[in-house]
Amino acid sequence: MEDVDDSDTKPFPTKTSIPPFWRSELDPLDEYRSTESLPTTCDVLIIGGGYAGIAAAYHLLCGDKYEPGTKPSVVLVEARQACSGATARNGSNTQPPFDLLSVLISCDLGGHLKPSVYGRLPDYIERFGSATAANVADFEWKHIDAIAEVIKKEGIECDFEIVRTFNVYTDREQALKAKNAYLKLKSLGIAKETINDLVWTDEDKAQEVSGFKDCVGCFASRAATLWPYKLMMGLLSKAVGQGLNLQTNTPASSIDRELGPNGGKRWKVTTARGPISASKIIFATNGYTSALLPEYENKIIPARGIACHITLPPGTEAPKLPGSYGILLPRAWDYLNQRPDGSIIVGGARPTFFAQDSEWKNNVDDNTLIDPAAHYFDTYMQRHFVGWENSGAHVESIWTGIMGYNSDGLPRVGQVPGREGCFIAAGFGGHGMPVIWLVMKSLTEMVRYGKKFEQTAVPNIYKTTKERLESTEDRLNSQ
Ligand SMILES: Cc1cc2nc3c(=O)[nH]c(=O)nc-3n(C[C@H](O)[C@H](O)[C@H](O)COP(=O)(O)OP(=O)(O)OC[C@H]3O[C@@H](n4cnc5c(N)ncnc54)[C@H](O)[C@@H]3O)c2cc1C
Repeated sequence: MEDVDDSDTKPFPTKTSIPPFWRSELDPLDEYRSTESLPTTCDVLIIGGGYAGIAAAYHLLCGDKYEPGTKPSVVLVEARQACSGATARNGSNTQPPFDLLSVLISCDLGGHLKPSVYGRLPDYIERFGSATAANVADFEWKHIDAIAEVIKKEGIECDFEIVRTFNVYTDREQALKAKNAYLKLKSLGIAKETINDLVWTDEDKAQEVSGFKDCVGCFASRAATLWPYKLMMGLLSKAVGQGLNLQTNTPASSIDRELGPNGGKRWKVTTARGPISASKIIFATNGYTSALLPEYENKIIPARGIACHITLPPGTEAPKLPGSYGILLPRAWDYLNQRPDGSIIVGGARPTFFAQDSEWKNNVDDNTLIDPAAHYFDTYMQRHFVGWENSGAHVESIWTGIMGYNSDGLPRVGQVPGREGCFIAAGFGGHGMPVIWLVMKSLTEMVRYGKKFEQTAVPNIYKTTKERLESTEDRLNSQ
């Protein structure tokens, strides 16, 4: 039987992609290769140079010190430029989403580090119990301080700012449900630090407090905003400084088991620039994972999202917004950040395309716009924000990004079932910013120290298991 070349149908990253605003100031490492040729062997191979892959490299090489002579050789291969996937196309909001309408609300995109508190908790309580839900909330909550700490320690300039973030409601029924879910969580007494930080405002004051027109209720809570590409490149440069061999423009096309020189088993990874053999692999391949690990097909699903950069006419000043936003419109969940220069990053636009599967589901094309959404953000600020009516705000640039949605709505982290030495951290949906940093810290402890998943800080529901791979659960359309 002839071999079938199915590489065209597998979800690999496209060669070219629409440049997002976050990649408007490129770092010297953007297309860097530490060595002219790809090393033929290494101890740990990281596949994917986004948030997850870069965080893995940083934690492995810049974390605990190694005894002399014990530092592993670590290679990172990235199909395109460093940080050119979802991480450079998002909203960079770091707040845990606490929206009971988890049906719509697992996304908080656009430069946001926004832990999800009330959004996911009711769903998690129902599915996994209060203790697990509280654990997830706490885990996300810790990200703001953990990211602030590494930025300070490494002196990375990335516009990091702790903000209040608003979740604004325009539908009274949704607002009431949200408020009731919050009150219920409060009465349960779980995730106290996160819940106590939330402030609910009723309709009479909601528009005044949030600055959002027609707002009938809003939450405010703690989050952070940042320039994700700059943070990642700052971390990457530290890892390269500690010996990471970075190989950009090096797509991996397949993995195979092979015998090493001493008879032990190793992994052979075929790339566009030749093979590389590794004892351990970290798959940080997000929505593209199933191209290399077919068992994740229909489990981690590539899903397109859209975001844009809105600016004002030269010489005019933007009204300062009181925080960042998650915006609940009928059937929509938009997310918005104001940049230090007053310009806006906003994404979402789901009602324009979500009913048309081919526009987003199992689609890795970030080289074209999601057509039905292309004009959704025109006059967005004028329509929705008090004081912006005559601002002249307009879409300066707009782009597509590929997320990794999950069939059961949860990231997949840990040792790949049945593949010794292979580790995965992927499928973070539209909500990776307040999850990935500490997930990768734990995952690298598994890789480096042989810790079991259960010995790490990662919430147990994120563990990648055979049962989850075999499950027929389908929550895709509710992410
Ligand atoms: C429009 C949009 C807005 C978003 N906004 C937010 C937000 O505000 N807040 C939030 O929390 N999250 C947001 N997200 C989600 C967040 O960006 C992701 O969860 C996070 O960036 C995922 O990081 P990652 O490293 O797993 O994936 P990526 O950044 O996608 O990195 C994966 C990398 O792997 C590489 N790769 C894949 N396959 C191969 C291969 N075979 N060989 C070599 N390299 C390979 C890819 O090229 C890519 O660079 C948003 C996402 C999008 C698309």
